[in-house]
Amino acid sequence: MRTPRRWWLRRSLWFRITLIATTITLALLFGLAVLAGRALGPLLIQSVDDELTAVLAPATAQVAAGDQPARPSGTEVRVLDTAGGPVDGDPPARLGAEDIRDLKAGLPVRVGDAPTWRWLGSVVTAPDGSQRLVAVGAPMVGFGAAVADGSRWLLLVAVVGGLVAMIATWLGVRAALRPVGRMRRSVRELPPGRRLPMPEADDELRALASDFNALLTRQEEVSERLRRFTGDAAHELRSPVASIRVQAEVAVTNPDPELAQETLTDILDESERLSALLDGLLTLARSDAGELPAAEPVELVTEARGAAGRLPDGSPPVRVSAVVPQAWALATPAEVELVLDNLLRNACRYAETQIVVSLLASRSRVRVVVDDDGPGVAREHRGHVFDRFYRVADDRARTSGGTGLGLAMVAEAVRRRGGRVTVGESPEGGARFQVIWRRHDG
Ligand code: ADP
Repeated sequence: MRTPRRWWLRRSLWFRITLIATTITLALLFGLAVLAGRALGPLLIQSVDDELTAVLAPATAQVAAGDQPARPSGTEVRVLDTAGGPVDGDPPARLGAEDIRDLKAGLPVRVGDAPTWRWLGSVVTAPDGSQRLVAVGAPMVGFGAAVADGSRWLLLVAVVGGLVAMIATWLGVRAALRPVGRMRRSVRELPPGRRLPMPEADDELRALASDFNALLTRQEEVSERLRRFTGDAAHELRSPVASIRVQAEVAVTNPDPELAQETLTDILDESERLSALLDGLLTLARSDAGELPAAEPVELVTEARGAAGRLPDGSPPVRVSAVVPQAWALATPAEVELVLDNLLRNACRYAETQIVVSLLASRSRVRVVVDDDGPGVAREHRGHVFDRFYRVADDRARTSGGTGLGLAMVAEAVRRRGGRVTVGESPEGGARFQVIWRRHDG
């Protein structure tokens, strides 16, 4: 069962279309030929009957008037009594008793073969009151041969029609598929960065070329992003690694115990930065690879208080203000922690005196707003702070151990749950980061 299907699916498109079209055309033409062949005999007989009726009508009128009926050539006109005996002076008609009965009943009669005769009859009353059967007959010369030849011709026409249909379909399909061949060649020879030429006709192929070009654009964007990301990651990793190496070299060449302690502290700082950077890269790489743990309801008020508690000692005070006692978001606890920790750490880094975390909920969304009273994010940077490795004040972030990946991770964690994160200005004059998640009716 599987083999014919596999064989069929391995055939080329033009072969399959041609075979289907030819088979259907042949079947239709054969059907029509058989039907027409069957109708041929009755049609020929009908035409003989029409001719005989045209002779019978005047003949019966003449007999009824007491005249001799006219005898047109090619037909035989007989006047018989109701028993079939001749009353026109000619020899007995070649009609049996059954034929006479049928003729009297107005039914047509076929008699003998080679040639077969066709008879029609009608009973009339002669002027002397006697009943007369007027019978009109004609030989059906060549009837059998005409029917057989006609059927043969019709079958031949069907075969020729099928062949013509096959050639026409084959040529048509080949012409229709020629642009596909051209497109395949273009795809094979397409240099990087180029697009397929669009076919002139506004058809399915043009739509395919357009979709293919759109796919190429998307693919190029993805590889360009990946290329930039890899380059940036390598660049970012280079400076802490180089710094660790230089410090280690200094420590080796100057084995001074006091300097060694200072160097080790620096190495520790750089290692922590390196470790944070690698963690961030790993998180983003996992997310890029489509890793998405199942979402669950996470309670944001508790999480916000937890994140505030995790801030280092000496941080500006954090006020958590919740409009609702509980706000459930659809995410994972790890994602919510990542988002809140990063936003609060940043706020803490830039705030002058205080940080406010507000939690709001609507019917379908929950919103976390983090306000600080620091310098804020200038308008021209707001579109970029969520980009990977983007830093506004590079040197300041560097000294405070920033990697430029924090907000990128926040944006990614929120985006993949169908939420969004924005940056604006807080009423205190600093930065306002707003995160919106899908709400769970907890
Ligand atoms: P980093 O880890 O280097 O801080 P982020 O992605 O967290 O990187 O932040 C990107 C940039 O956004 C930072 O360099 C900083 O300039 C700016 N930024 C983030 N949060 C704040 C804030 N609360 N106030 C002002 N600037 C901020």
